[in-house]
Amino acid sequence: MKITYYGTAAGEGWPCIFCECELCREARRLGGKNIRTRSQSLINNDLLLDFPPDNMLHANIYGLDFKKVDYLFVTHDHSDHFFATDLELLREPYTHGRKKGLKVYGPENVGKKIELLVPEPGDNDPRFIYERAVPFKTICVGDYEVTPLLARHDRNQECLIYLVRSVKEDKTVLYCHDTGSFPQETFDFIVNYPHKLNLVSLDCTQGEQKDGDYHMGFVDACAEKERLCQAGICTADTLFVLNHFSHNGRILHDRLVEMAKEKGMLVSYDGLAIEF
Ligand SMILES: [Zn+2]
Ligand SMILES: [Zn+2]
Ligand SMILES: [Zn+2]
Repeated sequence: MKITYYGTAAGEGWPCIFCECELCREARRLGGKNIRTRSQSLINNDLLLDFPPDNMLHANIYGLDFKKVDYLFVTHDHSDHFFATDLELLREPYTHGRKKGLKVYGPENVGKKIELLVPEPGDNDPRFIYERAVPFKTICVGDYEVTPLLARHDRNQECLIYLVRSVKEDKTVLYCHDTGSFPQETFDFIVNYPHKLNLVSLDCTQGEQKDGDYHMGFVDACAEKERLCQAGICTADTLFVLNHFSHNGRILHDRLVEMAKEKGMLVSYDGLAIEF
Protein backbone atom coordinates (compact mmCIF):
# COMPACT_ATOMS: atom_id res chain seq x y z
CA MET A 1 0.00 0.00 0.00
CA LYS A 2 1.19 3.49 -0.67
CA ILE A 3 0.25 6.92 0.61
CA THR A 4 1.41 10.09 -1.13
CA TYR A 5 1.07 13.42 0.65
CA TYR A 6 0.38 16.13 -1.91
CA GLY A 7 -0.72 18.91 0.45
CA THR A 8 0.46 19.09 4.05
CA ALA A 9 -0.61 22.52 5.30
CA ALA A 10 -3.62 23.79 7.18
CA GLY A 11 -6.15 26.12 5.53
CA GLU A 12 -3.92 29.16 5.00
CA GLY A 13 -1.08 27.19 3.39
CA TRP A 14 2.46 27.80 4.55
CA PRO A 15 3.74 30.39 3.88
CA CYS A 16 0.36 32.08 3.68
CA ILE A 17 0.36 34.39 0.65
CA PHE A 18 -0.35 37.55 2.67
CA CYS A 19 1.43 36.70 5.90
CA GLU A 20 4.57 38.45 7.11
CA CYS A 21 4.96 36.52 10.38
CA GLU A 22 8.38 35.20 11.33
CA LEU A 23 7.43 31.60 10.47
CA CYS A 24 6.17 32.46 7.00
CA ARG A 25 9.19 34.63 6.24
CA GLU A 26 11.49 31.83 7.37
CA ALA A 27 9.59 29.25 5.29
CA ARG A 28 9.94 31.52 2.22
CA ARG A 29 13.66 31.91 2.85
CA LEU A 30 14.31 28.19 3.39
CA GLY A 31 11.89 26.86 0.76
CA GLY A 32 11.96 23.09 0.14
CA LYS A 33 9.92 21.06 2.62
CA ASN A 34 8.80 24.23 4.39
CA ILE A 35 6.57 25.14 1.44
CA ARG A 36 3.27 23.45 2.14
CA THR A 37 0.05 23.45 0.13
CA ARG A 38 -3.43 22.56 1.29
CA SER A 39 -4.58 19.16 2.43
CA GLN A 40 -4.66 16.22 0.01
CA SER A 41 -3.35 12.65 0.05
CA LEU A 42 -3.58 9.72 -2.32
CA ILE A 43 -3.84 6.04 -1.41
CA ASN A 44 -2.18 3.90 -4.09
CA ASN A 45 -3.14 5.58 -7.37
CA ASP A 46 -6.90 5.53 -7.16
CA LEU A 47 -8.25 6.67 -3.81
CA LEU A 48 -8.00 10.37 -3.06
CA LEU A 49 -8.45 11.95 0.35
CA ASP A 50 -9.75 15.53 0.18
CA PHE A 51 -10.05 18.04 -2.63
CA PRO A 52 -8.43 21.39 -1.82
CA PRO A 53 -7.98 24.60 -3.85
CA ASP A 54 -4.50 23.28 -4.73
CA ASN A 55 -5.80 20.41 -6.92
CA MET A 56 -4.41 22.09 -10.01
CA LEU A 57 -0.97 22.52 -8.52
CA HIS A 58 -0.92 18.94 -7.25
CA ALA A 59 -1.86 17.65 -10.71
CA ASN A 60 0.21 19.90 -12.94
CA ILE A 61 3.34 20.45 -10.85
CA TYR A 62 3.46 17.57 -8.34
CA GLY A 63 2.20 14.90 -10.76
CA LEU A 64 -1.05 13.74 -9.17
CA ASP A 65 -2.69 11.74 -11.99
CA PHE A 66 -6.44 12.39 -11.81
CA LYS A 67 -6.98 10.01 -14.70
CA LYS A 68 -6.29 7.13 -12.31
CA VAL A 69 -8.41 8.45 -9.45
CA ASP A 70 -11.69 6.56 -9.08
CA TYR A 71 -12.73 7.46 -5.54
CA LEU A 72 -12.66 10.70 -3.61
CA PHE A 73 -13.29 10.68 0.13
CA VAL A 74 -13.84 14.12 1.62
CA THR A 75 -13.36 14.67 5.34
CA HIS A 76 -15.42 17.83 5.75
CA ASP A 77 -16.65 20.99 4.15
CA HIS A 78 -13.86 23.43 5.01
CA SER A 79 -12.45 24.98 1.86
CA ASP A 80 -8.93 23.63 2.43
CA HIS A 81 -10.41 20.11 2.27
CA PHE A 82 -13.25 20.56 -0.19
CA PHE A 83 -13.10 23.09 -3.00
CA ALA A 84 -16.31 22.19 -4.83
CA THR A 85 -15.68 24.65 -7.66
CA ASP A 86 -13.00 22.34 -9.11
CA LEU A 87 -15.56 19.52 -9.48
CA GLU A 88 -17.29 21.74 -12.01
CA LEU A 89 -14.29 21.05 -14.25
CA LEU A 90 -15.50 17.46 -14.76
CA ARG A 91 -18.09 18.82 -17.17
CA GLU A 92 -17.85 19.66 -20.88
CA PRO A 93 -16.42 21.92 -22.24
CA TYR A 94 -13.73 21.86 -19.52
CA THR A 95 -13.08 18.12 -19.60
CA HIS A 96 -13.17 15.99 -22.75
CA GLY A 97 -12.73 12.25 -22.93
CA ARG A 98 -12.89 11.21 -19.27
CA LYS A 99 -14.59 7.86 -19.53
CA LYS A 100 -15.68 7.41 -15.95
CA GLY A 101 -17.46 9.35 -13.26
CA LEU A 102 -15.70 10.39 -10.08
CA LYS A 103 -17.27 8.69 -7.10
CA VAL A 104 -17.34 11.18 -4.25
CA TYR A 105 -18.03 10.25 -0.64
CA GLY A 106 -18.34 12.70 2.20
CA PRO A 107 -20.54 14.13 4.94
CA GLU A 108 -23.88 15.82 4.29
CA ASN A 109 -22.54 19.34 3.73
CA VAL A 110 -20.31 18.04 0.95
CA GLY A 111 -23.34 16.41 -0.69
CA LYS A 112 -25.25 19.70 -0.57
CA LYS A 113 -22.48 21.46 -2.46
CA ILE A 114 -22.33 18.72 -5.09
CA GLU A 115 -26.12 19.02 -5.56
CA LEU A 116 -25.54 22.63 -6.63
CA LEU A 117 -23.25 21.45 -9.43
CA VAL A 118 -25.91 19.22 -10.99
CA PRO A 119 -27.93 21.20 -13.58
CA GLU A 120 -31.37 20.23 -12.28
CA PRO A 121 -31.94 19.08 -8.70
CA GLY A 122 -32.17 15.30 -8.65
CA ASP A 123 -30.54 14.97 -12.08
CA ASN A 124 -28.43 11.91 -12.52
CA ASP A 125 -25.20 13.29 -13.86
CA PRO A 126 -22.82 10.32 -14.17
CA ARG A 127 -19.80 12.58 -13.75
CA PHE A 128 -20.72 13.41 -10.15
CA ILE A 129 -21.56 10.27 -8.27
CA TYR A 130 -22.02 11.29 -4.67
CA GLU A 131 -22.79 9.02 -1.79
CA ARG A 132 -23.08 10.16 1.77
CA ALA A 133 -20.41 8.81 4.09
CA VAL A 134 -22.20 7.83 7.29
CA PRO A 135 -20.08 7.60 10.44
CA PHE A 136 -19.18 4.01 11.38
CA LYS A 137 -20.77 2.52 8.22
CA THR A 138 -18.13 0.83 6.06
CA ILE A 139 -18.16 1.64 2.34
CA CYS A 140 -16.79 -1.01 -0.04
CA VAL A 141 -15.21 0.38 -3.22
CA GLY A 142 -12.93 -1.60 -5.50
CA ASP A 143 -10.42 -3.35 -3.29
CA TYR A 144 -11.04 -1.03 -0.32
CA GLU A 145 -13.13 -1.02 2.80
CA VAL A 146 -13.40 2.57 3.95
CA THR A 147 -14.96 3.43 7.29
CA PRO A 148 -15.82 7.04 8.10
CA LEU A 149 -15.38 7.90 11.77
CA LEU A 150 -16.41 11.03 13.64
CA ALA A 151 -13.76 13.70 14.12
CA ARG A 152 -13.56 16.22 16.95
CA HIS A 153 -13.54 19.38 14.88
CA ASP A 154 -16.14 21.94 13.68
CA ARG A 155 -19.24 21.53 15.91
CA ASN A 156 -21.48 23.16 13.27
CA GLN A 157 -21.08 20.37 10.75
CA GLU A 158 -20.28 16.67 10.61
CA CYS A 159 -16.53 16.15 10.19
CA LEU A 160 -15.00 12.77 9.41
CA ILE A 161 -11.72 10.93 9.55
CA TYR A 162 -11.23 7.67 7.65
CA LEU A 163 -10.04 4.14 8.19
CA VAL A 164 -8.94 2.88 4.77
CA ARG A 165 -8.26 -0.81 4.36
CA SER A 166 -6.93 -2.53 1.26
CA VAL A 167 -8.35 -6.05 1.43
CA LYS A 168 -6.03 -7.43 -1.24
CA GLU A 169 -2.92 -5.99 0.38
CA ASP A 170 -4.13 -6.67 3.93
CA LYS A 171 -3.11 -3.15 5.02
CA THR A 172 -4.94 -0.44 6.93
CA VAL A 173 -4.42 3.33 7.18
CA LEU A 174 -6.01 5.60 9.76
CA TYR A 175 -6.19 9.12 8.30
CA CYS A 176 -6.98 11.80 10.88
CA HIS A 177 -7.23 15.36 9.50
CA ASP A 178 -8.80 17.60 10.82
CA THR A 179 -9.48 16.41 14.32
CA GLY A 180 -8.60 16.93 17.95
CA SER A 181 -8.25 13.90 20.21
CA PHE A 182 -10.50 11.03 19.12
CA PRO A 183 -14.10 11.16 20.38
CA GLN A 184 -14.81 8.15 22.60
CA GLU A 185 -17.00 6.33 20.07
CA THR A 186 -14.34 6.80 17.38
CA PHE A 187 -11.60 5.57 19.68
CA ASP A 188 -13.72 2.54 20.65
CA PHE A 189 -14.34 1.71 16.99
CA ILE A 190 -10.65 1.94 16.13
CA VAL A 191 -9.40 -0.22 18.96
CA ASN A 192 -12.04 -2.87 18.25
CA TYR A 193 -11.24 -2.92 14.53
CA PRO A 194 -10.37 -6.51 13.57
CA HIS A 195 -7.13 -5.55 11.77
CA LYS A 196 -3.99 -3.87 13.10
CA LEU A 197 -3.15 -0.39 11.84
CA ASN A 198 -0.19 -0.19 9.47
CA LEU A 199 -0.02 3.60 9.17
CA VAL A 200 -1.59 6.36 11.26
CA SER A 201 -1.59 9.91 9.88
CA LEU A 202 -2.06 12.27 12.83
CA ASP A 203 -3.08 15.92 12.82
CA CYS A 204 -0.41 18.35 14.03
CA THR A 205 -1.87 21.73 13.10
CA GLN A 206 -1.19 23.41 16.41
CA GLY A 207 2.52 22.46 16.52
CA GLU A 208 4.01 23.62 19.82
CA GLN A 209 0.61 24.48 21.29
CA LYS A 210 -1.63 21.98 23.00
CA ASP A 211 -5.18 21.69 21.67
CA GLY A 212 -7.01 18.38 21.31
CA ASP A 213 -10.44 19.99 20.94
CA TYR A 214 -10.39 21.10 17.28
CA HIS A 215 -6.96 20.08 16.05
CA MET A 216 -3.93 18.42 17.58
CA GLY A 217 -0.61 19.91 18.53
CA PHE A 218 2.55 17.82 18.83
CA VAL A 219 1.77 16.88 22.44
CA ASP A 220 -1.79 15.83 21.54
CA ALA A 221 -0.57 13.70 18.63
CA CYS A 222 1.95 11.96 20.91
CA ALA A 223 -0.85 11.28 23.41
CA GLU A 224 -3.11 9.76 20.72
CA LYS A 225 -0.23 7.59 19.50
CA GLU A 226 0.29 6.38 23.05
CA ARG A 227 -3.42 5.64 23.51
CA LEU A 228 -3.57 3.62 20.28
CA CYS A 229 -0.43 1.66 21.08
CA GLN A 230 -1.56 0.87 24.61
CA ALA A 231 -4.90 -0.37 23.27
CA GLY A 232 -3.02 -2.98 21.22
CA ILE A 233 -4.27 -1.94 17.76
CA CYS A 234 -0.76 -1.11 16.50
CA THR A 235 2.31 -3.28 16.01
CA ALA A 236 6.02 -2.54 16.35
CA ASP A 237 5.96 -1.79 12.61
CA THR A 238 3.05 0.67 12.60
CA LEU A 239 4.12 3.95 11.03
CA PHE A 240 3.01 7.23 12.58
CA VAL A 241 3.10 10.33 10.39
CA LEU A 242 2.48 13.89 11.56
CA ASN A 243 0.66 15.97 8.95
CA HIS A 244 -1.41 19.19 8.43
CA PHE A 245 0.72 22.08 9.67
CA SER A 246 0.17 25.78 10.29
CA HIS A 247 2.47 28.74 10.79
CA ASN A 248 0.50 29.25 14.01
CA GLY A 249 1.99 25.96 15.27
CA ARG A 250 5.39 27.67 14.95
CA ILE A 251 7.58 24.65 14.16
CA LEU A 252 9.43 24.50 10.84
CA HIS A 253 10.06 21.17 9.15
CA ASP A 254 13.59 20.29 10.30
CA ARG A 255 12.97 20.99 13.97
CA LEU A 256 9.75 19.00 13.89
CA VAL A 257 11.56 16.06 12.30
CA GLU A 258 13.94 15.98 15.29
CA MET A 259 11.08 16.21 17.81
CA ALA A 260 9.09 13.52 15.98
CA LYS A 261 12.05 11.16 15.67
CA GLU A 262 12.38 10.99 19.46
CA LYS A 263 8.77 9.85 19.62
CA GLY A 264 9.08 7.36 16.75
CA MET A 265 7.13 9.41 14.22
CA LEU A 266 7.66 10.76 10.72
CA VAL A 267 6.82 14.25 9.45
CA SER A 268 5.02 14.76 6.15
CA TYR A 269 6.00 17.23 3.46
CA ASP A 270 4.48 17.96 0.08
CA GLY A 271 5.40 15.07 -2.22
CA LEU A 272 6.28 12.52 0.50
CA ALA A 273 5.37 9.00 -0.62
CA ILE A 274 5.47 6.10 1.82
CA GLU A 275 5.14 2.46 0.78
CA PHE A 276 4.43 0.00 3.53
ZN1 LIG B 1 -7.66 21.65 7.46
ZN1 LIG C 1 2.56 33.44 8.82
ZN1 LIG D 1 -11.25 21.87 9.08
